[in-house]
Amino acid sequence: MNRHDHDAAILAGAGESPADAWRRRDLDVVWHPCTQMREHPHALPLLPIARGEREWLVGMDGRRYLDAVSSWWTCTHGHAEPRIAEAIATQARTLEHVILAGCTHEPAVMLAERLLAIAPRPPGRAPLSKVFFADNGSAGVEVALKMAFHWFRNGGQPQRTKFVALENSYHGETLGALAVGDIPLYRRVYAPLLAEALFAPSPDAVLAPPGESAEQRAHRAADALAALLAAQGDTVCALILEPLVQCAGGMRMHHPAYLRRVRELCDAHRIFLIADEIAVGFGRTGTMFACEQAGIAPDLMCLSKGLTGGSLPLAAVLATQRIYDGFLDDSRERAFLHSHSYTGNPLGCAAALASLGIFESDDVLARNRTTAAKMSERAASFRTHPNVVDVRQTGMIVAIEMAPGADAGVDGTAVEIAGGRGLRAYREAVARGVLLRPLGDVLYWFPPYCIGDDALDLLAATTRHAIDAAFGGPTCA
Ligand code: PMP
Repeated sequence: MNRHDHDAAILAGAGESPADAWRRRDLDVVWHPCTQMREHPHALPLLPIARGEREWLVGMDGRRYLDAVSSWWTCTHGHAEPRIAEAIATQARTLEHVILAGCTHEPAVMLAERLLAIAPRPPGRAPLSKVFFADNGSAGVEVALKMAFHWFRNGGQPQRTKFVALENSYHGETLGALAVGDIPLYRRVYAPLLAEALFAPSPDAVLAPPGESAEQRAHRAADALAALLAAQGDTVCALILEPLVQCAGGMRMHHPAYLRRVRELCDAHRIFLIADEIAVGFGRTGTMFACEQAGIAPDLMCLSKGLTGGSLPLAAVLATQRIYDGFLDDSRERAFLHSHSYTGNPLGCAAALASLGIFESDDVLARNRTTAAKMSERAASFRTHPNVVDVRQTGMIVAIEMAPGADAGVDGTAVEIAGGRGLRAYREAVARGVLLRPLGDVLYWFPPYCIGDDALDLLAATTRHAIDAAFGGPTCA
């Protein structure tokens, strides 16, 4: 009898279901992320999950939940993917971890080689040619920000201390990453601790007034950025953005023309472009990396989440040779000393190599094109829904934005299951076996790539019920 069964047996004797027992034990000891813990026992009961299986999560009570959010956008090929599990197990029996300062190992070298080989590489531009490993997305963002600042400092331009970020952006929640994020609920409390950033208007296509196309909107936002850089560009070391989709900001999407303009502006002002592909990388938007759709390459590219297929925490920051060379010196202080204990962890690297192997062997990008078309068919019917104001899609991301309401969420911004309406939608979906976590008024589909047709049908039908429930219609709970 394993520990789980043992505990369940004891608790069943006490008249409590195993799922309820785990809920109770959890709330005794675990402090959850992104949660007002007071809501948990009643308004937001925890889902005790026993195992994962492709696009499904299986609860301890045997109920199945479609993971429509890919567990915070990490899961690419499905849960408990056997090839990734095998790679981790084999690596764990060989070398589970080794300090990466002064040592190296096969999975780190092979992963760096493969990432650089698939990184965006438009003709005429110096390629990304070095990989710095970290262990989660926010840490990767910190690395990129520090590298950009430090490079200019090493080069005799210490006055370049500022970062430009976009309105409605999200780059993580450590203090450096929060400083370049623009979601008030996450940022406001910590504002006194944050470095000052310059925020440029978002190119978000939804903000285009009637008659303006997404591309025109992109150009207008780029014009505003040009004005900002003309005024303050010589104090800036880097611009950071989420290419094509601002995910935590409510799955807001923009035209690739914006990225081309940003690339030109960064070059003109000699500042680095940091592409945060942590959420959109690894096939999510239709290409391996979102930057490819604009035909650009950044100077620094942050990867995490889908890097390991969603199995282990790992991040990688890809940098140009020019940036790397700016740290070569006799002085330790001019080196990039940033270090995390688990940087380049062999298990994470082995998982990432297995995940990249699956992209090739299963031709995942081609299959995603077919799946994205099926998502598009199912999303189309929401365009005429009376309570829906926008339906948008980029590759394997569909967002269905409900009409704004008084209880939409804190500040009306995209915060996960924030207000009464988001919570009602969430609860309705869970009762119907789908894990949907609305961002403010936005319900979105961000499924594991292996999602099947029946699961897509369930997702579409459940989304309709969730919207009804959000607007006070009949619920199944
Ligand atoms: N950047 C983006 C675009 C993200 O979506 C996230 C996470 N949602 C992060 C950075 C931070 O990653 P992590 O949660 O692993 O720190």
